[in-house]
Amino acid sequence: MSIDRIVNTTIDETPQNDEQLLEVTLRPKRFAEYIGQERLKANLQLAIEAARRRGEPVDHVLLYGPPGLGKTTMATVIANEMGANIRVTAGPAIERAGDLASILTNLQDGDILFIDEIHRLRRTVEEVLYAAMEDFKLDIVIGKGPGARSVRLDLPKFTVIGATTRTGALAAPLRDRFGIMHRLEFYTPSEIEQIICRAASILSVQIDRTAAASLATRARLTPRIANRLLKRVRDYADVNGDGIIDHPIAHSALNLLEIDELGLDPADRSLLEAIIENYNGGPVGVETLAALTGDERSTIEDFYEPYLMQIGFLERTPRGRKVTHKAYKHLKRTPIQMDDAAQKTLL
Ligand code: ADP
Repeated sequence: MSIDRIVNTTIDETPQNDEQLLEVTLRPKRFAEYIGQERLKANLQLAIEAARRRGEPVDHVLLYGPPGLGKTTMATVIANEMGANIRVTAGPAIERAGDLASILTNLQDGDILFIDEIHRLRRTVEEVLYAAMEDFKLDIVIGKGPGARSVRLDLPKFTVIGATTRTGALAAPLRDRFGIMHRLEFYTPSEIEQIICRAASILSVQIDRTAAASLATRARLTPRIANRLLKRVRDYADVNGDGIIDHPIAHSALNLLEIDELGLDPADRSLLEAIIENYNGGPVGVETLAALTGDERSTIEDFYEPYLMQIGFLERTPRGRKVTHKAYKHLKRTPIQMDDAAQKTLL
């Protein structure tokens, strides 16, 4: 992505495909529309009000948690509540320290710089960023060789909002520059149901309460998945019915998608089955698991695991991942008892 593209990109840029159009259309704009995450909202509202009274930009904010829980959405809400411009970029898009310098010098006082996947910033870029976040100054080197000199530039007072699926991967000095750090939690089924009803009303889709509840239990407690499911089920209702989503329509559509009543899809099931079949339920290291399923390690860690652990199907132990009895029961499997010696031959 070129610098121009990064700098000019705003969250409300013209959507490139159906999926992006859906996200932009459904994204809540203010705190009042943002369902759930009450503790996060209360803390941010306080920080914003305090900053507003002092006439200062809000402190740097780090939001972390699994994908699709509303980190980007919250960044836009903060910008709207502050009446600030938001610039959007992502860790892997900033290739060199010079790219970041160009972004920073194009900001204005009070602007918000949203950096998605901030844990994927390169070390050299990270160093420039945390120095700039600290005192709003930028040291740049002009020229090369013996004639090179360092110049210190004043930057506008901006706010960084970083989003990451893993805080552990962030260098400590960068993490320390965030005055506000919050983990986004999975939503409750009733919050997901509200999100589905809100989305249905924006999209002018008719859905009854039992169908909304049934979708909610299968959305992995995640708003992005809830919205996607609604869209898929709407397509099904348009083709196989009169466009209205009732319980039988929702049920048939979800079965067609092979999503079970807990929101597990074939990929989740084969991950659990792989541990059961090959390692008698585990423990098994994540690298081995990745090799076994053909997934990236990060896909397993960021996408599959958090939800499977949240519903108590997978445990993280010092020796690796373990499938729980609850998961065996759901998959209608019986754990095979093994003595210690037999277990060791598997490891
Ligand atoms: P993340 O940045 O954490 O991956 P997003 O902010 O992109 O997640 O959220 C994905 C979609 O889910 C958004 O487009 C929005 O429509 C919906 N969404 C997220 N959080 C909420 C919420 N609290 N209330 C309603 N809809 C939400």
